Amino acid sequence: MRLKDKVAVITGSSRGIGREIAETFAREGCDMVINYYSDATSAAQIEKKIRDIGRSVLVIQADVTKRKDIQRLFFEAITHFGRIDILVNNAGINKRGFFTEITDEDWDMIMNVNLKGPFICCQEIFSYMKEQGSGRIINISSVAGQYHGPKTVHYAVSKAGLNSLTKVIARYGAPHNILVNAVAPGIILTDQTRDELSSVAGRNVIDMTLLKRPGNLEDVANTCILLASEEQNYITGQVISVSGGAYLG
Ligand code: NAD
Repeated sequence: MRLKDKVAVITGSSRGIGREIAETFAREGCDMVINYYSDATSAAQIEKKIRDIGRSVLVIQADVTKRKDIQRLFFEAITHFGRIDILVNNAGINKRGFFTEITDEDWDMIMNVNLKGPFICCQEIFSYMKEQGSGRIINISSVAGQYHGPKTVHYAVSKAGLNSLTKVIARYGAPHNILVNAVAPGIILTDQTRDELSSVAGRNVIDMTLLKRPGNLEDVANTCILLASEEQNYITGQVISVSGGAYLG
């Protein structure tokens, strides 16, 4: 029970990587705030799963790009649980396209969800964690933010920005025992990436990893456990790449 009686908020946790992190945290003894954007049915499924594990859970709809939604989310979470120990900024979107094809609308959409959303969440949670005298923030970035992939210009830039935001917030957090890190997955096998992985482009990406396979959801979730738990209290301002050695291959 590495997160026994902690409370975590995970944005965009009704499916995919966020859902896996939520279930893994709950199995480690953590109470959960599940945030979803539009899929209430999936959110209800994960809510049941966490109750079955034996932990408390609160499900809150909120759009991470809207400050008022995020203020409401944290207020409801604090009112219910009395504290928030861990924030995982997981909500994120992607849209493939070459540099010349990206519209202003595409750019704004990706930046808003992937970068402005975590900025708002970090800013809004900061005063709560400061008052508690402790906190852990984990930003789910991407190896794209380190590789600067040509087919995902806006996505790569948003994740590079998130890596930078991680380091800046780590500076602000340090005097208050708030540790801030990013986890940067490579290509992870999820329902959303299954098709991409079987395409030529997907196979090329896998060929560029040292381990020659996609990662699993557990690889990402277990890295988040390490960063969230008090097994370690000395990692902050880091981007941990969970990518099978992507792009070193
Ligand atoms: P996903 O699409 O399954 O999950 C993303 C979640 O974010 C969804 O639940 C979605 O509803 C939510 N979301 C989107 N916009 C939102 C908003 N405005 N407000 C609140 N929630 C919103 O994708 P995933 O693969 O699970 O990705 C999760 C995170 O991991 C993302 O940040 C993504 O960039 C990152 N990532 C994924 C991979 C991968 O291979 N799957 C690789 C690298 C990084």
